Amino acid sequence: MPFSPAYRASTSHQALGADFYDIVTPARFPAHLLRYRNQRWAARTGLESLTDDEWAKHFGHFEPLPGSFREPLALRYHGHQFRTYNPDLGDGRGFLFAQLHDTWNDRLLDLGTKGSGQTPWSRHADGRLTLKGGIREVLATEMLEALGVNTSKSFSLIETGEELERSDEPSPTRSSVLVRLSHSHIRIGTFQRLLYLDETRNISKLLDYTITTYMPETWCDSDADRAIAFLDEVCRRVARMGAQWMAAGFVHGVLNTDNINVTGESFDYGPWRFLPSYDPAFTAAYFDETGLYAFGRQPDALLWNLFRLAECFLPIAEQSRLEASLAAFEPALHREFAAAILRRLGLRTRSPELDAALARNLWTFLHSTKAPFEQTFFDWFGGLRSSERARRSPSSPYYSEAAFQPFRSALEGFEPLTEIALDHAYFAGERPCTMLIEEVEAVWEPVANRDDWSAFNSKLAEIELMAEAYGSHDTRP
Ligand code: AMP
Ligand code: MG
Repeated sequence: MPFSPAYRASTSHQALGADFYDIVTPARFPAHLLRYRNQRWAARTGLESLTDDEWAKHFGHFEPLPGSFREPLALRYHGHQFRTYNPDLGDGRGFLFAQLHDTWNDRLLDLGTKGSGQTPWSRHADGRLTLKGGIREVLATEMLEALGVNTSKSFSLIETGEELERSDEPSPTRSSVLVRLSHSHIRIGTFQRLLYLDETRNISKLLDYTITTYMPETWCDSDADRAIAFLDEVCRRVARMGAQWMAAGFVHGVLNTDNINVTGESFDYGPWRFLPSYDPAFTAAYFDETGLYAFGRQPDALLWNLFRLAECFLPIAEQSRLEASLAAFEPALHREFAAAILRRLGLRTRSPELDAALARNLWTFLHSTKAPFEQTFFDWFGGLRSSERARRSPSSPYYSEAAFQPFRSALEGFEPLTEIALDHAYFAGERPCTMLIEEVEAVWEPVANRDDWSAFNSKLAEIELMAEAYGSHDTRP
């Protein structure tokens, strides 16, 4: 019996109707080599007992999952790319394959693909994903989840035996198909497309669907109130996501409106990077020539995107009320940033002022000294309780600098969370688990040159140990 009793599928998105998607046919691949299966999330969706062959049948050949879509749906959307509106977007190399319920808390989850073949939205591109791109997405999602970021999960990665031409990778390069598990694929760009096409009734329809499916507590009786309550909620959720990226030292790289999920779950990982040390100008994508999406500009980029979402509700709600909703973003960002920093340090909250001061002092320390970013969080996990451990750290010289003193003073009075385990094996090491660009390349190199997956697998094991130390896999979203 391959499906556990807790397995529960859905076709919820189909109810939106044919204006929102196109039914498509998956590509047929010459090979199906299973490179990664997310057994943790398979268990949370009732799919843990599939054999590897059954897994490949569903996530490489795309045989429908029982109870979900009979055929995949390529989703329609538009979006602003680097601030220029593009009405030719849409799922060009992916589709919504299935919907399932999270067996923990019943949330609706999408199984969406990347690299599963051409669709009406491919615009002459091949509809494929490179193997390196697939590996990079697995590494990003595993790392972010471990660092406490609300992210989509990589569910499956299958190498597909094709040779692809890419301008940004030595070519021909190997191919793959990724399945991602995501709490909705409704993007800001999904709403923008309807505004562009002047489909006001569909804006209301999508709004109502999104509220009832993903945030029923924000339901209000009038159309205008619903739009405002929804925008409020999306602002809060997106602020939280942005705050978590900042606290994780993460640069997403491509903050276009089609890459922003309205549930506030981070997703679609292309040219992402993690900071080696604090640098607001640190930019991930080589094609981001002006640094529009640089580390320190991410909150602004997110707010700009939320303005574009607000515009979609101008046919429904008053401008002044929409503007008032948008004003909630900034305070939410500050609040969530302090919360994310505290969580990364494993500390209990004290008061909004003290929490914010702690975060600010840590940030000033990281900014002025350029101390290794992740090492600092590793060394001070648990606060002053870890002073002895921090003294033995390769970063200890930074902690005798004058610039460290304000952060040290701010730590006084903060207690570790009761559930954290400071004696976890992860903290017995000298260095934290990191995912700097050279480490990503070091995972890829043996795969590319010798088909040697050991570095990839040991990196995943390292992340797993960190996640266990931080309790990240036990946190229910
Ligand atoms: P992304 O940069 O991955 O967010 O993609 C932006 C847009 O380009 C989306 O509409 C994608 O579906 C499309 N796209 C990206 N790569 C490909 C590809 N290889 N084949 C077809 N469409 C693609
Ligand atoms: Mg995208």
